[in-house]
Amino acid sequence: MYLQGPAGVAGAVKAAQMGRRAILIDKPKFDAGVLPNGLDLFFGGPTGLFSKALRDSAKNTNVAAMRAQSMDSDVIWKQITNQIVSLAMRNAEGQCRTLERYGIDYLQGGAQLLGEDDDANVAALKKFENDLDSPDDGLRSVSVSKDGSDVVVSGTKVLVCTGSKSTRLPGIPFDQSHRVFDSDTINLLGYLPRSVTISGLGIIGIEFANIFNALGVEDVNILVRGDVETSTKKLGMDLDVANELMRLLTESGVKVLEGTTVDEFSYVPPPGADDEYIKMKLNDGSTMETDLFFAATGRFPVGKNEETGLASAGVDIADRGMINIDKKTLITSTKNVYAAGDVIGAPALASTSMEQAQRAVTSMFCEGESDSALDSSHDDPLSIGVWTIPEMGYYGLTKEQAEKEGFTVVEGSVKFDACLRGRVFAPDGLLKLVVDANEGTVLGVHIIGKEAAEMVHYGMALVKGETKIFEILSTVYTAVTFHELFKEAAFDANSKLDFGVEWQEIFNVLQSECGIDFSEEFLREKFESIDEDGSGELDEQEMRALFSSMGRPVSKRVISNIMRLSDEDGNGTIDFGEFSAIFDKISCPPIE
Ligand SMILES: Cc1cc2nc3c(=O)[nH]c(=O)nc-3n(C[C@H](O)[C@H](O)[C@H](O)COP(=O)(O)OP(=O)(O)OC[C@H]3O[C@@H](n4cnc5c(N)ncnc54)[C@H](O)[C@@H]3O)c2cc1C
Repeated sequence: MYLQGPAGVAGAVKAAQMGRRAILIDKPKFDAGVLPNGLDLFFGGPTGLFSKALRDSAKNTNVAAMRAQSMDSDVIWKQITNQIVSLAMRNAEGQCRTLERYGIDYLQGGAQLLGEDDDANVAALKKFENDLDSPDDGLRSVSVSKDGSDVVVSGTKVLVCTGSKSTRLPGIPFDQSHRVFDSDTINLLGYLPRSVTISGLGIIGIEFANIFNALGVEDVNILVRGDVETSTKKLGMDLDVANELMRLLTESGVKVLEGTTVDEFSYVPPPGADDEYIKMKLNDGSTMETDLFFAATGRFPVGKNEETGLASAGVDIADRGMINIDKKTLITSTKNVYAAGDVIGAPALASTSMEQAQRAVTSMFCEGESDSALDSSHDDPLSIGVWTIPEMGYYGLTKEQAEKEGFTVVEGSVKFDACLRGRVFAPDGLLKLVVDANEGTVLGVHIIGKEAAEMVHYGMALVKGETKIFEILSTVYTAVTFHELFKEAAFDANSKLDFGVEWQEIFNVLQSECGIDFSEEFLREKFESIDEDGSGELDEQEMRALFSSMGRPVSKRVISNIMRLSDEDGNGTIDFGEFSAIFDKISCPPIE
């Protein structure tokens, strides 16, 4: 039995795949309309579905051209909302087909978990005792209220996926006006605003600033309590990617006001006063007017909500409303009750919510059998997609994070115009590889630009596969694709490595063609045979003779380079310690 959102759907499907019967119980997220079958329009979609649909619609709608044809804002907004409705409908209908395919039942209504000793639960156990495989494990029931009447639904396990709600900071007149929104009510936006003020530089705030800007709203302001750098760092964003995002945002006309908060809403127009603006006093004493105010200041898990009945049914809930769970199995403190998704707190993403739900169901029914869903680790790094315009995608470590973990790092970074597709179709953006300077391994991938949220999955495979940039350099990418940027970034990183691809190639030839095994004995013997004057040091000429003697002569330029890189004490010659360190450092696999 599942209380749903995208996590609930994923959990129910997993249960059906494991041969269990599942029912979804969901209260519509927003009063946004119903499908012909009576289900709500946002059924089975994430809370962020509206923003994705609005973004898509903003990209496909030429508001300026529509205005030039004398269309007024209401007509334009109607066209936009039609597109959103059709997108949400396609998603909801698709989710319904999935549920039908798996024989999953669905009940629309508010659910309240009952305690184990609640009369209704005890009665249900008595009634179904003979049908249960293990009646001693008990039964869990929820009371579902719909249209004023209550139904009790019972099952052996319950998965709670009641999601999150937007945080409402005090002093913001949400309820007085149809022009002040939070990240839930924005989904019911009913007009095309003339100007927008967003408070908060989190993912949601940035996403909507881009969207309103793309919709041709002339004045879009983001108020940031602190500074941009701190806010973007909190999101795990690479500094250069964040700077590129800010550059593109400000170039497109969005104003980002650091150190700025609203002290007071001095006037909020009543419904119907459509020509008037909200008036605000800012913390620096200045005033600002806006047609729409959007508080994107975070979300909180809804576990504490009395309607869910979780706390009174004995589920352990942290102060902020987050359900406490066992991180691996996702079981709560209460028997047979599991939780997944936003309601268990960070990272609160659609992708992680679904993975958690599948893992919870696996641990409910796996009964000692192995299942790959249980192997996934709660603490694995996440691939992040941010739906700005252009979008962002990142996975793995930033330079700063890698250095904190003790890596010596180089970065390979290229602008989107470094590849033909970028140059011609989408020059804005950059792709960066964070690379371990000793091994050449890719530790992180950070992208802003067209298709970034898709490309990051290839980046994720590079990081997870501990791929070295030398492998990327020897890969042939399909021409006129954005993936060519990975090779360009690898070239850039390579040029910053002490022992880049040129040295890899030389040592590869020595190993594969000249059959040399760089054992300690071999190196010592070689060193001593070349060190004719017995000084214990090799100069440039002796080093050149060494490579010739091994069967791979190298140019004077390349020898000067190895001397520069290896001569740690800076005396112009290489002693045996410095000499053998060269061979330790170049430990990369041979290039094909
Ligand atoms: C504006 C915005 C943009 C976002 N963008 C992204 C993004 O780009 N990428 C990403 O990965 N994530 C994004 N997210 C986050 C993502 O939407 C959530 O992580 C995801 O929706 C969580 O899924 P869930 O199933 O846990 O909860 P929810 O989607 O919140 O679903 C919970 C469901 O439970 C129902 N419910 C609650 N209480 C009860 C009850 N007592 N009885 C019955 N039903 C109940 C609710 O009505 C709701 O339908 C965004 C969120 C927002 C707000």
